Amino acid sequence: MVTSPLQFTPLLKRIRWGGRRLGTRLGKPLGPESDYAESWELVDHGADQSRVCSGPWAGRTLNELVREEGTPLLGAQARLEQFPLLVKFLDANDRLSVQVHPNDQQAAAAIPGERGKTEAWIILEAEPQACVFAGLKPGIDRAALARAVAQGTVEECLHRLSVQPGDCIFIPAGTVHALGEGVLLAEVQQSSDITYRLHDWNRVGPDGRPRPLHIEASLACTDFARGPVRPQVPQELPPWGPIARERLVAADYFTLDRLRGTGTAPLPAAPHCRIWIVVAGEIRWGTGAGERAGLGSTLLWPAATRPVDLDWSPGSVVIEATWP
Ligand SMILES: [Zn+2]
Repeated sequence: MVTSPLQFTPLLKRIRWGGRRLGTRLGKPLGPESDYAESWELVDHGADQSRVCSGPWAGRTLNELVREEGTPLLGAQARLEQFPLLVKFLDANDRLSVQVHPNDQQAAAAIPGERGKTEAWIILEAEPQACVFAGLKPGIDRAALARAVAQGTVEECLHRLSVQPGDCIFIPAGTVHALGEGVLLAEVQQSSDITYRLHDWNRVGPDGRPRPLHIEASLACTDFARGPVRPQVPQELPPWGPIARERLVAADYFTLDRLRGTGTAPLPAAPHCRIWIVVAGEIRWGTGAGERAGLGSTLLWPAATRPVDLDWSPGSVVIEATWP
C-alpha cells in the first residue's frame, strides 16, 4: 500500500522555443542541446506516463498506481481510471505561438475520450521585460479576431501583461494565450494535450515555411466573453503552525494553494492525494537520502500517507495542487 510520498522521473520535451534553465535552475538532467522546453513532472496521458523513480514502487507508472492502488493513493477519489492533472515546468526561452485550448465538450467532440484543457501558470523566474499574453482586449469579438488573423495583426487584439516571480495566471479553456520569451514557470493543467494554434507571430519554421495554424478550430473554441486576464489575487488560509498558506486558484478542475515557511510541522491528514511542487527551499520528511525534495521537485502524497513531520528549510515555498 502506498503510504509515503512518491517522486517520479521527469519526461523532458525538446521544442524549438526551449532553453537550458530546466537544468541550470531546476536541476533536471539535460543533454547537450539548447532547446529543453518542458519537463513533464506528473502525467498519466496515453503513452506519456510518469514512472516512480525510487523506493518500493520504483518503475511503476502513474496509471498503474491509479488502477492498482486507487484507495490508498486517491482516497475518496479512488474510482478514477486516469490521473486527472498534469504538472509541468516550462522554460520559454523564445515566444510561444498564440493558442487556445478546447473545453471538455469541444475536446470530446474532436477526439473521443479526450479532455479539455484548463491550465494555470506559476511564474518562477522572469527576465526584466518578460511578459505573457492572456485573454483578449475588451471589445474584441469573433469578427475582429478573424480579421486580425487574416491581416497578421493578432498581437493588437491580445492583452499583454508583464509578470514577476510568484505571479499566478489562470487560463480556463477558451482563453487565448501565449507565453512570452524569458519566463520559467510551473504549470498545472487538466490532463489533455489539445492545442489549437491561432497565430505564430508571422514566423517561419526551419524549412522557411509558416507552421500550420488551426484558425477555424481556434475561433470556435475561443471564449469571447473572457476579456483581459489579470494575475490571481491570493486569499489567506489558516496556517499549519509555522507554515503560512494562501489560495491561488479554486476552479472546477483544480485548487492551487501556496505554502511557505520555515521549521517543523506535521503534515495534516487529508482524504485525497496532494501534489506538491517545490519552488523554493527544501522539504524533508526523514533522514534518508530519498526523504527530501528540493527546488524543482514534484511530490505526490497518497491519501494513505502515514503521519509524518516535515522539516521546511528556511524560505521554502510549495505549490499544492488538489482537485475537488
Ligand atoms: Zn496553453
